[in-house]
Amino acid sequence: MSYMEISNIEKAFDKNEVLKGISLNIEQGEFVSLLGPSGCGKSTLLRCLSGLETIDKGTFVLDRNDVTETPAQNRNIGMVFQQYSLFPNMTVEENLSFPLTIQKMPKADQKAKIDDVLNIVGLTDKKKAYPGNLSGGQQQRVALARAIISRPKVLLLDEPLSAIDAKLRKNLQIEIRRIQQELNITTIFVTHDQDEAMSMSDRICLLNDGRIEQVSSPIELYTKPKTRFAASFIGHYN
Ligand code: ADP
Ligand code: MG
Repeated sequence: MSYMEISNIEKAFDKNEVLKGISLNIEQGEFVSLLGPSGCGKSTLLRCLSGLETIDKGTFVLDRNDVTETPAQNRNIGMVFQQYSLFPNMTVEENLSFPLTIQKMPKADQKAKIDDVLNIVGLTDKKKAYPGNLSGGQQQRVALARAIISRPKVLLLDEPLSAIDAKLRKNLQIEIRRIQQELNITTIFVTHDQDEAMSMSDRICLLNDGRIEQVSSPIELYTKPKTRFAASFIGHYN
């Protein structure tokens, strides 16, 4: 039994079939990228896994529990979006205490958690800052800190670096991977950037038009693309 078992997930918005039967097993501690062109269903799949979106068919079993019908707040999944995910009117500290307050954690315990997580993402000096006074990269570090503060079972990252300039992005890729490995959090990372997927992932799941084209290690996807789409997407033509 795998840690995450995603079986035959289908999702349509009215007549638009977006996910056409997605099946994927992920092991504990794995870092898997969802790679594919814009509109192929990457964000929809993440939203279905997080519980932000219901699914039409299929099941999602997480750590031996069927969570297909479980509300988002009870799935114990952390998520980071592309941008604008922090509350702009709250300080960094307040943004981080938000999920803990929802869990009714006493303030004194929260403080230790917040200090710990700010240390992990390297932002101990920004506790009192407002998001608007942070760089894009720093804001995403805070968003990541907030997503991991409750030590979720799974971390879902939806193109968290696509709004960050290229030079900083490389550093953040390394940071995200370091933190993920340090905490051993099972992670799905969405990107449309194949270089990012290649350099960061244990495995890559290549999506096209609501279906999985190939799931394999980066090197295997690169050297042995299984479909015409996979070959053309990663730049080989045969
Ligand atoms: P990706 O993240 O791969 O770019 P998305 O999952 O965002 O793709 O979108 C896939 C398809 O689903 C698109 O055709 C998009 O218009 C549609 N879609 C996504 N979310 C919604 C929604 N809430 N309502 C209607 N259509 C949606
Ligand atoms: Mg998307």
